[in-house]
Amino acid sequence: MKKLINDVLKVVPETLEGFVRLHPDLALLDGYATVIRGDIESFRASGKVAVISGGGAGHEPAHAGYVGRGMLTAAVSGDVFASPSTDAVFAALMVVGTPAGVLMVVKNYTGDRINFGLAAEMARAHGIPVETVVVDDDAALGSAEATAGRRGIAGTVLVHKVAGAAAEAGLSLADVAERARAAVAGLASMGVALSPCTVPAAGKANFELGADEIELGLGIHGEAGVERRTIASAATLTGILLDTIIKDRSIKPGAAVALLVNNLGGTPTMEMNIVAKNALDHLQGAGIAVERAYCGTFLTAIEMDGVSLSLLKLDASLRKALDAETEAPAWLTNARATQPPLAKAVTVPAEQAEASTDDGRATPAPEAVIAAIRAGCEVLLAAEDRLTEMDRHVGDGDIGRSLAQGAEAVLARLDAMPGYATYAVLRELSLTIRRAVGGTSGPLYAAMALSASNSLKEANGDASASLAAAFSTAVASVARLGGAKAGDRTMVDALLPAAEAIARGGGVATQLAAAAEAASLGAARTAEMMPRRGRSSYIGERALGYPDPGAEAVALWLKAAAASVATKRA
Ligand code: ADP
Ligand code: MG
Repeated sequence: MKKLINDVLKVVPETLEGFVRLHPDLALLDGYATVIRGDIESFRASGKVAVISGGGAGHEPAHAGYVGRGMLTAAVSGDVFASPSTDAVFAALMVVGTPAGVLMVVKNYTGDRINFGLAAEMARAHGIPVETVVVDDDAALGSAEATAGRRGIAGTVLVHKVAGAAAEAGLSLADVAERARAAVAGLASMGVALSPCTVPAAGKANFELGADEIELGLGIHGEAGVERRTIASAATLTGILLDTIIKDRSIKPGAAVALLVNNLGGTPTMEMNIVAKNALDHLQGAGIAVERAYCGTFLTAIEMDGVSLSLLKLDASLRKALDAETEAPAWLTNARATQPPLAKAVTVPAEQAEASTDDGRATPAPEAVIAAIRAGCEVLLAAEDRLTEMDRHVGDGDIGRSLAQGAEAVLARLDAMPGYATYAVLRELSLTIRRAVGGTSGPLYAAMALSASNSLKEANGDASASLAAAFSTAVASVARLGGAKAGDRTMVDALLPAAEAIARGGGVATQLAAAAEAASLGAARTAEMMPRRGRSSYIGERALGYPDPGAEAVALWLKAAAASVATKRA
């Protein structure tokens, strides 16, 4: 087990202490793992109904994150995934309870029901009115006759919000409870896990999943779900979850809902947004109006990779309760969203089309030039995997795909420039590369093509001299833009020797053959160079022994271009 903890027995008190010290409006109840509003004295004098919730720890930011004006008055925590004791709940009830009464929002687990239930009996005996709302939003279990009933999962946070808003508005205990129950009646959730989670005290994961396996309909304590299956696309899984939820609560086309996309702890934000997009699409397709959409980390199963989706059927009063102001920190960070807007796109103004008017057709590019460019592209496509592998050793493993993507785009563009002059072709290719390829290589190749194009436009017709001038101008622009010098272990270490070989003249075919050989030697030598530019520089001497992929790519396309020209001549 790898966790940032100090002592498995102190995980809960330490996380709560850290949380409270970061939030000056909150306080810990002395001797308990209970977080309460810091202004509890003035709250008690307000005559408002208190709302408490809680349960096992391991669901952070729940439940302590929802303490604050407008949501919970206190959150009582047990140990990780274990109900708080009756005594802890009772202590909280006595601190927050006034004659106005207390509403307890309890998730439907046997331990929680018993401990909160007994504590409520004890508090009533002390003259504090207590009502309980049990949340059982887990649609995966259906009617769940054979189990202890449907579990309470992430949708509980929406019940906290509804109850808290009603209490803050000054409603009576009976009315606050009635609002919370109305929310529960229209609420359903379901989750999918891509990984299990590890309870610190257990020290190992609670279940195992194969590399391509997922668990549908799991609980928030890492208990295995209702179905294990192989991973599918985000859209497919989102659809399965939503269809189960829609059926569970008989949500009809035309209905209005709030959508909650909840991170179970370890899901990248990138994937959360994809799931949110798929959920919005799916609901739109089902004719269901998403009036509120929230996406974030609301209620977790420690570090579990996965999401749960919840739908809450809305009416005007529930919508108002969701929108009501609150100071609860975890709601504030996650749930700012109001009405989800449709995806908006801002259109980029069309580029000034200088290209189309100046194609230099009077002197069309020789067939051999186009063939050489094609050959260079094809070799980059064929070498994709090898370049990727090389970049994995010394960079981030994307150069193979980047250059292949550029090659594909260039090949497609070449077909659409009949009769263009060489300089016009290169200018268009620069534009194509700029659009198609990112990273470091993309802009450097785009700069090369543009500089070569500018150089050729001024050229006087002598092929050998024009090639030399264009090539050295192109290489200079790479060096200028990237700031790399000879020996820095970049593509420049293949390009510079190639430019020198070309400058020696001797006719295009001879020049290219010499350039290819020089580039190949230059690329091989990079294996002994300390990286001083680009991503490789971060790994320092660990790059030694591996040639630079960018330099290798230069050697590859130059060799292919040279061979293509040689066969044309032959
Ligand atoms: P990244 O993923 O690091 O953005 P790419 O994978 O597209 O970049 O390209 C990596 C290659 O770019 C390197 O192998 C090296 O040849 C070349 N390179 C990196 N930095 C420079 C630089 N400053 N000047 C010239 N070439 C560079
Ligand atoms: Mg890279």
